[in-house]
Amino acid sequence: MKTAQINGEKIVIKNTEDIELDGRKGAIIKVLGCGLCGSDIVKFRHKISKDGTVLGHEIVGIIEEINSETNFAKGDKIVSSHHIPCFECTYCKHENYSMCKHFKETNLIPGGFSEKVYLSEEHLKNVAQKVPAEISDEEISFYEPLGCCIRAIKRCNLVKGDKILVIGLGSIGLIMAEGLKAYGYKVYGCDLIDERIELASSRGVESFNSRDLESFNKIIREKTENYGVDAVFMTSGADKAIDVALKTVKQGGKILVFSSTPLSNGYPNNEIYYKELTVLGSYSPSPDDLKESFDLITSGRVNVKDLTTTYPLENIQTAFDDTISNKIFKAYIKLGIN
Ligand SMILES: [Zn+2]
Ligand SMILES: [Zn+2]
Repeated sequence: MKTAQINGEKIVIKNTEDIELDGRKGAIIKVLGCGLCGSDIVKFRHKISKDGTVLGHEIVGIIEEINSETNFAKGDKIVSSHHIPCFECTYCKHENYSMCKHFKETNLIPGGFSEKVYLSEEHLKNVAQKVPAEISDEEISFYEPLGCCIRAIKRCNLVKGDKILVIGLGSIGLIMAEGLKAYGYKVYGCDLIDERIELASSRGVESFNSRDLESFNKIIREKTENYGVDAVFMTSGADKAIDVALKTVKQGGKILVFSSTPLSNGYPNNEIYYKELTVLGSYSPSPDDLKESFDLITSGRVNVKDLTTTYPLENIQTAFDDTISNKIFKAYIKLGIN
């Protein structure tokens, strides 16, 4: 089978031996496609993952072989996420599932950018779903990314009628905004790239360029009776994102951190103290968040149509390059035909 592997500065296609069940519980999935996540880009660019790693975790595929007492059967089209919490450790008891050791150790084998993957019994039981015929592979590939957004939204404990600003309108910012809208919050967006602002606005998220922070803040103050927004969701790691967040958030408001920023940029202690701000991080979804994401996509309550650009596996390097240069919005790597 073909897999895309990290090899120094490049992603290369390698032919490896087919992955088999070998008597294990679980399933072998013929991968139809896999979304390219911002975290894949970070792992590749910052050399967090070593050579030989097969990235990709937003998979859609067909069950080719199965040994499991679950409701899945050979031939089913499924979508799956990659990590599973143990539900028992101190992190899990406090709902910090993404910190759980078991969560970090579980994964798709070898990784989503591969013609076939092995899904364990635990994956089938906790994080895999059957894909309804009317949903496209590209749409359902947002199952895991939207799950991340659902988790962030839940962590914020927002109040009905809250006004929210999403900083960064890349694919994750836009689906964060779509998720917030689906829960009934009033959402504003900002970015520095005009095409993104236009796209978000055309999808019902009133969005602005935040380059001139003073005039952008004026707009936000006008929209919020001068209070500022109840919460800011930081999906951008741009240098100025923290400045935008601190300027536009209401006193007593929340800043949800959903991206890494340069290490020299920190949160000023005194602003958090005097303004009673809550700064909280959110990383990866729990099985419950994923179920909710699945329901939101399959019911059409969150619109994830027409957001992806498709690349065959052979052109995965171009998909990485185009994502890094902001040429495209979200890459979807197509591996097989249903
Ligand atoms: Zn992802
Ligand atoms: Zn745990």
